[in-house]
Amino acid sequence: MDRAFVAHLSESDIGLHDRLMTARRDPDAIERLDESNLLVDLAPHLEDFIGELFGIAAEVRALQARHHELGPLYSVKRLFVQRRAVKGVKESDAVAIDGPGLAQELDRVMSAAADEPVGAWERCYAEHVANWLEDEAGNAEALDIAQRYAAWATLSPEGRRKHRRGVLFKVPHRLDMHHLVPVQTVERDGVTMLRLPEDEWRRRDGFALTDRGTDLTGALDQANYCIWCHNQGKDSCSKGLKEKDGTFKKSVFGVTLAGCPLEEKISEMNLVKAHGNSLGALAIVAVDNPICAATGHRICNDCMKACIYQRQDPVDIPQIETRTLKDVLALPWGFEIYSLLTRWNPLNIRRPLPRPASGYKVLIVGLGPAGFTLAHHLVNDGHFVAAIDGLKIEPLPPEIGGVALDGSRRAFEPIRDVASLVESLDDRVMAGFGGVAEYGITVRWDKNFLKIIRLLLERRASFSMYGGVRFGGTITIDSAFELGFDHVALCAGAGRPTVIPMKNGLAPGVRQASDFLMALQLTGAAKTDSIANLTVRLPVVVIGGGLTAIDTATESLAYYPLQVEKFLSRYEILVAERGEEAVRAQWTP
Ligand code: SF4
Repeated sequence: MDRAFVAHLSESDIGLHDRLMTARRDPDAIERLDESNLLVDLAPHLEDFIGELFGIAAEVRALQARHHELGPLYSVKRLFVQRRAVKGVKESDAVAIDGPGLAQELDRVMSAAADEPVGAWERCYAEHVANWLEDEAGNAEALDIAQRYAAWATLSPEGRRKHRRGVLFKVPHRLDMHHLVPVQTVERDGVTMLRLPEDEWRRRDGFALTDRGTDLTGALDQANYCIWCHNQGKDSCSKGLKEKDGTFKKSVFGVTLAGCPLEEKISEMNLVKAHGNSLGALAIVAVDNPICAATGHRICNDCMKACIYQRQDPVDIPQIETRTLKDVLALPWGFEIYSLLTRWNPLNIRRPLPRPASGYKVLIVGLGPAGFTLAHHLVNDGHFVAAIDGLKIEPLPPEIGGVALDGSRRAFEPIRDVASLVESLDDRVMAGFGGVAEYGITVRWDKNFLKIIRLLLERRASFSMYGGVRFGGTITIDSAFELGFDHVALCAGAGRPTVIPMKNGLAPGVRQASDFLMALQLTGAAKTDSIANLTVRLPVVVIGGGLTAIDTATESLAYYPLQVEKFLSRYEILVAERGEEAVRAQWTP
């Protein structure tokens, strides 16, 4: 495969081929900017090669075309909306503009329907403005209308409300670090509370995925907002924001701004994605972060905190990364392409292919994010890996995972459509793989990514995993070495129960928040067919304001109505069977 790609490259661009070969010969000799430029230049070639390899060149071109169709949105936003329309205009001026009247005039000149969805209308506006700008004098009147409308839509409260689901008329906000979330203060029943404005509320019903992340339009908006700082060596999202003495800066909250812990080539990803090459962008991500299905949106944002934009909204890098992965996964054979890039990645000049077998055997304890990521790198470095986890791991169908129920290996079938792997989160059975990413994250994150990660590993011949195995009990450090392991890697611990030493902490009705969340996730109590006994009564008082506290508040609010519905349906069945009196006779006061 690698030889075929290198031959393909030598035919299409011999100069680039020679640069790649030189870089591979001595990877440590290449300057960082030269490496970045090499990767950015290689990305479209790799994309072409993979498109041909999987017989999906037409689908890859269609995906590129969807990126290019959106192009005018971002150029018009930067050059017309931001640099012209809103320059020097105050909110009070914008409020005085007749936005709805201008919208009607624009609809007429653009032949747009008045009820066009905001996204489609903005695209239409951007395409027209881009064309009008080709002949400014000839289109002066239309441009004037478009310019005044843009000022109204961007700056007036009514215009912002109308376009809140779009991207064209949203300009970066100045950051007020002490008011990062725009909450309102309200008083009810003598209690002062903070809450979001009502039109920002998101209704929640049950335990299906609550956040699907941005679409392509939103991701490209962010990729084009990025100024691709790697060109100046200032991509602090990746390398961290430094003081003059070389130490990392700290935020006003005292958080060290070290950037991405993996030093992912974010700026390069953003540039390649903005150019329309999703496969190429994913290959760049996979150089430093092959298990990117476990990072990105809803998981991490150290990169954002260290973005060069410190005084205004940072680039939403996690959304770009996750959208890039999803765009590739959505292609025919998308999962297989991602899987391939985690093993063979010609953009990784240090390890384009897995290394030959080393003969070393490593035991990994814990299959959370640390365990599965380490397992991936060790397997690619040529070692044999056995991983254990205390949770029971449910088997995957052997035809996709390549492991039969008795643990033996069998051939697996390639996955054409990633949708065949997807389960709805509200009735998905907890599979036991993923540690804290399984039981410590709510349905804001799509746990279907865990199955994808598991398949990346489970199919590898030099990897095996065992659930329901407790380190220190079923297997000890001595017995591990007796079994022939050369190393033991401890990747467990995040899921240890947190017990706060507090008087009456075990009184009825009092629960540790982390214990409640784990019980909810592990027992699947919210599922209609679960018999888990997890009782919540409202009102719930949550003490604390961190992540665990917020999760506890949201999950108990979502769980309570389901608990009531489950109780009611069981009550009705029992009453139909035994009569109301007999059922109620068992109740305690
Ligand atoms: S994400 Fe921010 S720091 Fe990183 S390259 Fe883009 S603008 Fe620069």
